[in-house]
Amino acid sequence: MFPTTKSQLIENLINFSEKELASYSKKRNFDFGPPHKNVSKLSPYLRTRFISEEEVLKIAVNKKNIKTSEKFIEEIFWRTYWRGWLESHPWIYEEYLNTSNNQPLPRKTGIKCFDSWKEELIDTGYLHNHSRMWFASIWIFTLGYSWQSGADFFKKNLLDFCPASNTLGWRWVAGLQTINKPYVAKSDNISYFTNGRFNPNGQLIEKVNLNYAEQNSSNVFPFMRHNKIEFKNFNNLGIILNKNDLSLNHIFDNKKMTYECCVYSTEHETKLVNEFNKNIILDILNNNKNFEITENYNQIIDWLVNKKIKNLVLPYETVGNNIFNVKNFKNKLKQLNINYNFFLRDWDRNAFPYATKGFFKFKKNIPNLINLADI
Ligand SMILES: Cc1cc2nc3c(=O)[nH]c(=O)nc-3n(C[C@H](O)[C@H](O)[C@H](O)COP(=O)(O)OP(=O)(O)OC[C@H]3O[C@@H](n4cnc5c(N)ncnc54)[C@H](O)[C@@H]3O)c2cc1C
Repeated sequence: MFPTTKSQLIENLINFSEKELASYSKKRNFDFGPPHKNVSKLSPYLRTRFISEEEVLKIAVNKKNIKTSEKFIEEIFWRTYWRGWLESHPWIYEEYLNTSNNQPLPRKTGIKCFDSWKEELIDTGYLHNHSRMWFASIWIFTLGYSWQSGADFFKKNLLDFCPASNTLGWRWVAGLQTINKPYVAKSDNISYFTNGRFNPNGQLIEKVNLNYAEQNSSNVFPFMRHNKIEFKNFNNLGIILNKNDLSLNHIFDNKKMTYECCVYSTEHETKLVNEFNKNIILDILNNNKNFEITENYNQIIDWLVNKKIKNLVLPYETVGNNIFNVKNFKNKLKQLNINYNFFLRDWDRNAFPYATKGFFKFKKNIPNLINLADI
């Protein structure tokens, strides 16, 4: 289901656009089971920007089908929205990390759909969106586990783990994101949207009453509009790609700039996820013979010195995604007299300031954001 070469990914995307996109809005909520043809399965690639949002939409959407693609475009913006929202509420992620409590996980529960989704997630690194919602709801309300332990379980096993989409997705199901409005999984709904594959009638807790206190809205830090980067005077330019953005260099290619590039590869605790991450990086290295791979800070420093880098560009690090935005590393760059810039793509720069409240408000800006992205 998840190819690890860009060429195969693009072929799949073209196929999806030709055969599935027109019925996406009608069918996207159905979980027909693997191989999930009715949805794009792009999340592991968008999360790492192995392919960027603009690239996806330029392939999938053309002026003729912009109307039929509206729902798909809106879904693409959900990730942007969650990421932007977490930027203006950074303590929410801290709170999750601090309350994550390593609860032991449910083994066989006897709830067929739940056990099956758990296996699917472990075996493939993916779950359909609707099943993530049902799974999270059963986890919290029927089985009585904490939402944080569920978020940890997803974090460990998803190919597309994204601190914002995951934490806020679990909070939303738990009734914390839209306060006291939990997402409650219903057996009828599961039966209908799995096309009768499952019917947990009588097995789920379908009535939930919550009484959380309203959140203090003064804790919002509106996202400050970042200055656009000056592309002038970038001599001895180096770019480090990492799981936050594996295609940032394309922006510099488009400007016909020369640069040195290395890809920073990190380990993941789960074999399946680790192999997927390593293989997409391998594809980048195969397509760019002059790129190097680095696996720790010392190797990066050696690379910077060997290549005589004077200006360094790194992917912008949103909340939960810190890799290089740490004191020791930045001090080292200062010592080496290297200017550095955490590069925020225009896609995020334009959208994040609108993501401080609900998605409904944010959504109104999508046509304008699409125009700005020149799609
Ligand atoms: C509890 C829970 C946890 C989740 N955790 C993650 C996570 O860690 N990482 C992650 O990428 N997504 C997460 N999601 C969102 C969503 O389930 C996946 O992005 C989606 O299932 C990806 O499948 P797809 O690419 O086939 O989606 P498609 O329906 O084809 O959508 C296209 C793209 O739109 C974006 N998208 C669609 N729905 C959402 C959504 N609800 N939130 C954010 N982006 C969306 C994704 O980038 C996706 O690739 C979570 C949802 C829930 C309910």
